[in-house]
This record gives sequence, structure tokens and C-alpha cells, in this order.
Amino acid sequence: MNKLGFGFLRFPMDGDRVRYDILTPMVDAFFAAGGTYIDTAYPYLNGKSEEAVRETVVKRYPRDRYLIANKLPGYDVKTYEDCYAYFEESLKRCGVDYFDVYMLHWLDQKHYALAEKYDEFRFLRELKASGKAKRIGFSFHDTAELLDEILTKHPEVDCVLLQINYLDWESEGVQSRRCYETAVRHGKSVIVMEPVKGGTLARVPEKAAQILKALDPERSPAFHALRFVQSLPHVEVVLSGMAAVEQMEENLLQVEPMTEQELELLRQAAEAISEATAVACTGCGYCVKHCPKNIAIPEYFRLYNENRQMPRHAWKQKPAYHEIARERGKASDCISCGACEKKCPQKLPIREHLAALKEVMEG
Ligand code: SF4
Ligand code: SF4
Repeated sequence: MNKLGFGFLRFPMDGDRVRYDILTPMVDAFFAAGGTYIDTAYPYLNGKSEEAVRETVVKRYPRDRYLIANKLPGYDVKTYEDCYAYFEESLKRCGVDYFDVYMLHWLDQKHYALAEKYDEFRFLRELKASGKAKRIGFSFHDTAELLDEILTKHPEVDCVLLQINYLDWESEGVQSRRCYETAVRHGKSVIVMEPVKGGTLARVPEKAAQILKALDPERSPAFHALRFVQSLPHVEVVLSGMAAVEQMEENLLQVEPMTEQELELLRQAAEAISEATAVACTGCGYCVKHCPKNIAIPEYFRLYNENRQMPRHAWKQKPAYHEIARERGKASDCISCGACEKKCPQKLPIREHLAALKEVMEG
């Protein structure tokens, strides 16, 4: 089995420019291996993601060769009509006249209240009735209780997009397992995002790497992370952003469901990773554009985690931090306005982490 979908949230870029020379062969490799599912969203990469779908997929392959999933930024909607305006713009940017899956992007308590206020589920139902969206759903970042409440009130949705990976499986914050079980109980198809937790499960600390080697010494840590979610029987698609054809080739390998013994090794690896992770940032970047000080939050958190995992390499991490800070705000520039935290799907106490990071990187 292989359930890989191509996530167009993270792909090779050079500043604001899409690296089509790398991305296009990746799309070809994906289709050649039997992949079909392409995932994008109106806000991804400031519209560059949807454009890349048009250029690499829609202009180059027949419409029945692929499925496109897209998402409405329902939290930015101000009137019911706005929903249609966003939808039409997405169709245009992607160069298609329908979407195979259309979702409300990023429902949590606050965004769900807005979705109800602007009747966005009615909008989804209308799209489905008109054939403009073949299936409807939403992506979700909150508790299993809220997911249960939404699915009870809106049985019309076909699928949900959930953050599931072996590190978040039992976490109190993300609640991967509980959300998965809730969706299954409601009979919904599950699509997975962040199976590698924004790269956290691709670059694991040494202790975890040794544990994963016992699973299969030939395979990378990311392979095991993808295999974990593919083993879940109600998971239909696993979205992964990828950086190179070689990475994609490994991700497209056929996999067997994990045995109980293998799952136990993953639990041990998760423990080792949690011990060595200072900040559970996925690198999504949603916080950055709202920061008045242009602080490079995900880049700093990545260096901070590396520092926790390899303190002996502080001589590398600190210069890298100061290099980024030449053009971006430093952690010590934070004015504690809290704008970033309102946008963080992981609900991280960003200000607190920046204050601690400042001591390490600037001290
Ligand atoms: S709290 Fe600090 S990091 Fe967050 S948006 Fe405000 S200035 Fe930026
Ligand atoms: S701090 Fe939160 S919003 Fe910012 S990149 Fe990390 S996970 Fe995303």
C-alpha cells in the first residue's frame, strides 16, 4: 500500500520564486509512481502554491489523472458572498473548473465560530450540490471534543484533514489519536497532514535515530513516520511536502502496516525525541507574517531545537542565528504583542520560547 498525497505547502523555493526546475520532475515522479492527490490552499505561499498546481499539474496532465484538494480561508471571510469570491479565485489560480475536495481551512474554536457566523457549511453544501466540489470537509487543529461537536452538527462533510504523526499520537495538545478515533466514529475519511511534523521526524536526535535503525537500517526516519500513519486503516491519504525527487522516491515505496513490536519501537523513539525537543514547532510559518518585528520565529526554533539536541555544536548554531538576524528581527526584539500566538496552529507559547531562546543564542 501507499497513500502518499503531494502537499503543496512546502516545496522548493528560492525566496519568492518557485523552483520549477526541481518541482516539475517531482510532480512527474509522483504521477509515474501512481500518485493522484494534490493538496493546496488559498493562503499557501501567498498564492504561489495554487499557481504551482496550475503550472506543474493542470497544464501538463489530463483532468482525470489527478485530484485537487483546496481550502477556503474562512477566517478571513466577511460576508457569505466572500466564500464564493475566494472559491472562484482559487479555481482561476489553479486553472480548473471544479475541485475534487474542498475544505474549510484550519477550524479551531475561534475559526469554527466564524464558520458558523458566515454559514460556511451551507456554502460547502451548495458547492457539492452544484458539482463544483466533489467532496467537502475541513482541516482541523483543536481538541477531540470540538471535533466531535462539529461532526455531530455537520454530518454532511465527507472527510477531515487531521494532524497525525507518531510524536503527537498521545499528546494532550494535538490529540492525534483522539481526533482520529473521533473522525472514525463519525464515519469520516481521514486525510493526514504533518505526518513528519514539519521535518521534526525527519531529523531526529541520535538516540531516536538508533532506535529507528532497528526498524529498518536502510530507511530514513521520515520513512518510518510516513509508514506509521499509512498503517492506520481509516487514513485515506497522507500529505507530505517534499524537497527533492530522491526523497519522493522513498516516500512512494509500498509499505506494510506496522506490527505491535514496531509500534513499541516508535513509542521509544517518540520519547527520545520529546526529551530532546525544546519547541514543538512544525515550521508552518503562519506566525511570521503577523510579527511587527519580522522575527524569524520558525528558523530560530529550528536552531534552538538543534542546540538542545547537539549542544556541542553551539559554535555552528549561534553564528547561524546571528546571520539570520542580520536581516530579520532578533528574539530580543520581541515586543510581546502576542500576534504570532493567535496564528499558531500548534498553540505554542511563542513569547515564552523566544525569551528562553534569547538567553541561549544571544547570551
Ligand atoms: S509577540 Fe513578539 S514574536 Fe510574536 S508577533 Fe509580537 S513581536 Fe513578533
Ligand atoms: S511557531 Fe507555530 S505558527 Fe510559527 S512556524 Fe512554528 S508551528 Fe507554525
